[in-house]
Amino acid sequence: MDNWILRAPNNLINEASSVNISSPTQVKVKVSHLLLTNFDALLFGGNVKASYPKTIGRAAVGIVTEVGENCYGITKGERVYFEPTRACGQCLKCKSGKPKECTSITIAGRDFDGFMRDFAVCEYSDVAPLPDSVDDLHALCIETVGIAENIYDKLNLSAGQKVAVVGADPAGNIMAQVLQYHKVIPIVIDNNEANLERVKKCGIYYAFTADDDLKTNIMNATGGHLCDAAVYIASSRLPISLATRMISAGKTIVLSSPSSTPSSLDARDILDKNLTVFGVSHAYDYTDAVINMFVHGAVNIDVFEKEILTEYDPVALLKERCSNSSVAARNKMTVFKMIF
Ligand SMILES: [Zn+2]
Repeated sequence: MDNWILRAPNNLINEASSVNISSPTQVKVKVSHLLLTNFDALLFGGNVKASYPKTIGRAAVGIVTEVGENCYGITKGERVYFEPTRACGQCLKCKSGKPKECTSITIAGRDFDGFMRDFAVCEYSDVAPLPDSVDDLHALCIETVGIAENIYDKLNLSAGQKVAVVGADPAGNIMAQVLQYHKVIPIVIDNNEANLERVKKCGIYYAFTADDDLKTNIMNATGGHLCDAAVYIASSRLPISLATRMISAGKTIVLSSPSSTPSSLDARDILDKNLTVFGVSHAYDYTDAVINMFVHGAVNIDVFEKEILTEYDPVALLKERCSNSSVAARNKMTVFKMIF
């Protein structure tokens, strides 16, 4: 029985273990597909510290093999998505019965055991049943779409406004598609031509290279007004100054997901332009909304480069993803197909 446990940074070992249901509200699930995420790589490399030891793996789907007697809406044999985040149960909001407003959301692989293992046992409320029309690869992108949706909600935009998306890796691409779905106009910036091509294939009109012409291109695209907000995709590892330069005074920058590269934001830019800056790193409570978006075809993931592996060496793959040179690894979806 596979169970990939991170004991310390760069120390990931496969320790056989078996898990069993211990309460009537739990389900046992065979993990069938796992998406290797940049967050897993940050944990592996020690750029994000976990409460060791922890099973790694943030994005996964599986098939229910056992159901406790007090589980509702879940049946044996059903395909489910594992919630990658949970309310902490400790903070003031959680203790006053408002877990949806939890101020200390916990994350799979960091705060509780993740899903790079054969079987997982969890509360039935920690898995979401998947409709037939949402395939496994789409389901593995639920959190990425949820983060984009969370950012859209927090920016409080209206139709026709223009938002710079700095970074066009799959996370940036999905961000742009979600904005477009809400009739907000994304302006995507990257220095990777293949990423920009994929963005265009998804129907995004404005996709610019981060070169000397960028400011002029943005001025032309916005009628000289610059953008109404900017989303900085940290996994892109582009300079944050690209985001501050592309928005007008008094606007907002959102920093999305953690990064291994310490990217600094110039305080003068924030002061001079009176900018608002905040971060969004999870999509707690967005799963149902995203599944509904997929059912309506809101996001196209067909354009992403994918590798689906039935044999894999997680240590080698995570090392590759951690290395600064490996842009290619971060721009494709690496999926473990974990068969019975
Ligand atoms: Zn809490």
